[in-house]
Formats: sequence, C-alpha cells, structure tokens
Amino acid sequence: MKNSTTGGAGALYVVATPIGNLGDMSQRAIDVLNTVDLIAAEDTRHSARLCQHFSINTPLKAYHDYSDQAHSEAMIAQLKMGKDIALISDAGTPLISDPGYRVVKLARDADIDVVPIPGACAMAAALSVAGLPSDRFCFEGFLPAKAGQRLNYLQDLMEEERTMIFYEAPHRIVDSLTAIVDVFGAERELVLAREITKTFETVLAGTAHEVLQRVEADPNQRKGEMVVLIKGFEASEKQIDAKVEHMMRCLLAQLPVKQAAQIGAEISGLRKKALYQWALDNKPG
Ligand code: SAM
Repeated sequence: MKNSTTGGAGALYVVATPIGNLGDMSQRAIDVLNTVDLIAAEDTRHSARLCQHFSINTPLKAYHDYSDQAHSEAMIAQLKMGKDIALISDAGTPLISDPGYRVVKLARDADIDVVPIPGACAMAAALSVAGLPSDRFCFEGFLPAKAGQRLNYLQDLMEEERTMIFYEAPHRIVDSLTAIVDVFGAERELVLAREITKTFETVLAGTAHEVLQRVEADPNQRKGEMVVLIKGFEASEKQIDAKVEHMMRCLLAQLPVKQAAQIGAEISGLRKKALYQWALDNKPG
C-alpha cells in the first residue's frame, strides 16, 4: 500500500468519487478506500452511503479544512504515526471547489507522500463535451453570490481569451446568466452542462442569450447541478482603443491604408478588416 519515501509515515490518498453515476467509481479508488486506515470525508453520512454501496468498511471521519486548521493538523499527526488516510469529498475530485487544500499543503510540507487517485470531476467532464476550445481554459469555481460582486468579477474576465468554466447553483443560474449576457454580450457562445452522468443529463449550447432564454422558459433547466462554460474573448471582438488609434495614426502618416491596416493587425492582434475600415474613415486629408 505504501508509496512512501518518508520512513514510517503513512500516505495521504486524494481520491476522486463519482459525480452522479456510481459506475464511474474506479477500481483503484475502491481498493484504496478499502485498505487505508481512515477515510477523511466532507460529510460522513453522505460518504457512508458510497462506502456501503461498494462494501467498504474503513472508518470515516469528518474533515473540514475550510473552517478548521486543527482538523488538518490532526490528520498530519496521524499520517506521521504511519496511518494511511484517504481524502474524499461528497462528489468528484477533492480540492476542486471542495476541501483538501490545507491538508495536502501541510502533508507536502511535512514530506508525506500525497497520492492522487484520479476520477470524475464535473468541470473536466463538462469541458470534454462542450464543444468549446479546450486547449486553454480557466476554472473559476463558483461566482460570487452577491450581484455587485458577481458583476465586478465577470467584468474582470471580459477580455479573458481562454474558455472560462464556472460552477453554479440552480437558484442562481438565471441571475448569473443574465449578468453574463450583460457583461460578455448576448452573442457570446455559452454552454450549460447539467446533471452530468445522471438521468437528466443535459447540455445546452448556444449564444448566452439563447441559453438564458431556454433556462428562463423551462423550470427543469434550473434544477440539479450545473457547470457554465463561456467561450473566451476573441481578438476580433477587441475594441479599437485609444492606444490602437494612436498606433494607426502613426502608421497612416507613413503608409497607404491597406498596409497600415495589415501592420496594425499584426501588432495589435485585431482584425485587419476592422482596422482597414477604421483607416478609411480616419485617413488624413
Ligand atoms: N469536487 C467536485 C468536482 O470535482 O467536480 C465539485 C464540487 S462543488 C462543491 C459542487 C458543484 O460542482 C456543483 O454545484 C456543480 O456546479 C458541479 N457539479 C458537481 N456534480 C455535477 C454534475 N453531476 N453535473 C454538473 N455539475 C456538477
């Protein structure tokens, strides 16, 4: 069981569990949960049902690292005494919008082996089916619950070029989609992935406005667990700001419109067509 480079210390296993369909539990996750000395769980009653399903009889202990440093320190003490511990959350991968960061950090600082047992994760599952660019993306967790903070948060992401991924609660989805339309515009591509791996799994894709309309019109689309994905900002959407205008005026002073637009596009990353039109409208004389 031990993967240890650290004397008699135990190992901390960070174990992913299903996000709905229990068929997604890996054999390795079952084996590890069966053989560790202790399972540290976010909610022991919830995890007891999972353990029962897989006939895992390992003792469960509650773990809340968001609120309680003592919990993490107690776990480190047990690991140092040679106990193997598995960390699980209610669903999916621990630490992904779930507890675990603190104990993993403390364990690594104490040179204790930290071993990932990978598996389901809602944001990765959603991204894998969204049909949005997946070469670069950023996971933003949950948006702030308060309207003003949420708006500021989204405004900071206005020019984010990577696909953005958010977790969202059903009772906030209409407000969040409305804020997204306000900030990113009605035409921005958006995907809402709901109830992944469960009976009512649904993936809605369209413009932000279209998805908002679907969700407003159908109460079923406001139920369950959900992931919102927003396509990143495209250079072609960038505004011609004062800096670009200044650059274009300098170029136009020396070059014909077509060449100025071409060089301007290379420097700024903006669309040549848009700069060509701007140059026609603003050429000197
Ligand atoms: N650690 C988990 C993971 O790996 O995805 C996420 C935990 S976070 C507290 C819970 C949120 O994840 C939900 O509110 C929802 O946004 C998202 N989520 C979890 N399961 C999901 C599912 N089956 N379908 C869609 N979203 C899900």
